[in-house]
Amino acid sequence: MSGRQFSVGDAQYLVGSRQLKALTIHESQALLRTREISAVELTNAYLSRIEQIDNRVHSYLHVASDRALAQAQAADERRAGGEDTPLLGIPLAVKDMITVRGMPATAASRILDGFVPPYEATAIAKLREQGAVFLGKTNLDEFAMGWSTENSAFVTTRNPYDPGRVPGGSSGGSAAAVAADETVAALGTDTGGSVRQPASWTNTVAMRPTYGRVSRWGVIAFASSLDQIGPMTKDVRDNAILLKAIAGHDPMDSTTMPEPVPDYEAGLEGGVKGMRIGLPREYFVDGMHPGIKAAVMDAVAQLTDLGAEVEEVSLPHTEYGMPVYYLVATAELSANLARYDGVRYGFSAGADSMWENYRQTRGQGFGPEVKRRIILGTYVLSAGYYDAYYLQAQKVRTLIRRDFDQAFERFDALIAPVAPMLPFKVGEGPTDPVDLYLSDVFTLPTALAGVPCISVPAGFVQEDGASLPVGVQFIGKPFAEATILRVAYAFEQATRFRNVRPALP
Ligand code: GLN
Repeated sequence: MSGRQFSVGDAQYLVGSRQLKALTIHESQALLRTREISAVELTNAYLSRIEQIDNRVHSYLHVASDRALAQAQAADERRAGGEDTPLLGIPLAVKDMITVRGMPATAASRILDGFVPPYEATAIAKLREQGAVFLGKTNLDEFAMGWSTENSAFVTTRNPYDPGRVPGGSSGGSAAAVAADETVAALGTDTGGSVRQPASWTNTVAMRPTYGRVSRWGVIAFASSLDQIGPMTKDVRDNAILLKAIAGHDPMDSTTMPEPVPDYEAGLEGGVKGMRIGLPREYFVDGMHPGIKAAVMDAVAQLTDLGAEVEEVSLPHTEYGMPVYYLVATAELSANLARYDGVRYGFSAGADSMWENYRQTRGQGFGPEVKRRIILGTYVLSAGYYDAYYLQAQKVRTLIRRDFDQAFERFDALIAPVAPMLPFKVGEGPTDPVDLYLSDVFTLPTALAGVPCISVPAGFVQEDGASLPVGVQFIGKPFAEATILRVAYAFEQATRFRNVRPALP
């Protein structure tokens, strides 16, 4: 085949005029369908890319080369037998918070060191059924608690757009792997912003679906009333494809809803003409980076040009998002993490008595941020404080949800910044936990309300000689993923910021 320059073990992955490693899901599908490439070739391309570059980016905690190649081989055979599902033969990366049968599951914590789950997440089982290939497990902040992957017990992932900086978190490994072309797409989890913030810092696309849209079965639990799996992709079309593949009711997760799963891809091209989009006034706070505010305002102008009507709206309880989240999330995680007792999962300190073994296992197994939160959550739930903190927080959570309900009486979608700051240099983020907790102000209220949101590339801001990606998020009514995908697609097609690739070899 002319122009075909494919080989394993070096940096040349050209097929025709295309760089294989930079392909999206939909581009890969087209090449797989016409047999221009095989799933084995595609998988090999990503495995060599990981080998070439991951010692600089550190997206992965575990690469499953042999298994991935066997899955790719099986996908090629299924295709030869006439099958053609959207994910057939597509290599994916999985945040190490989501269980995949046969692969280690660490949650980037020492306490799970050596744990290989005997089961897997429903989302993974669905993808496996559709013929996807699992390249490996990606890095994160320990138990998804953080902003930068610096809380990982193992390694800090680097931002492909400036390796001196963090990629965001907690799904930073998945975001960096997508941005650095170490995978076609990835799964992350979002409890309070963990797919959206790293996507906005790596020029990639990530969706936090409606709570109940995607099964949490097999996801390592952080805060059960907030956790959601989210697709992390190179573009909006891929996001629609991956969301459809994992969404739906699951008898193993009673919080999933029976709502039918629409064909998200089919609805992408409807445009935004005549749509009403709200711009929440409370999402422009003192101290936010002016470049981020400018990017959001540019996006507003762009949507207006495309025919949308953008108007200000108020979400008056926004300021309570941070305190409510850190009461609800810590309460829930203190209960969820009680199971790591040195008996059933992973690491055990091996002390003589039961209590001493609990103490030592948990003392050595958990990192400082996780311990801080367990202590906070235990306090929040303790006798005499439960009503004052947890119950009160749940009431305010209802008010936050009501803000969104009211806004959606007038608007089809909302537009907002994702994070108030740019990706910081490794080791140079805010040192005061409260300042860090405040950095989630734009992603926590939506998570508490359970509404869907998608983060899309919205431009670049120059800082210290680096050109740093900024995202914007679109927020929708419960189960209106199709609407925000449509807005995101129109915006992406009009701007094409994703074409700016990181300056990696
Ligand atoms: N940064 C937030 C936290 O540390 C959100 C994390 C997440 O969504 N998993 O809790």
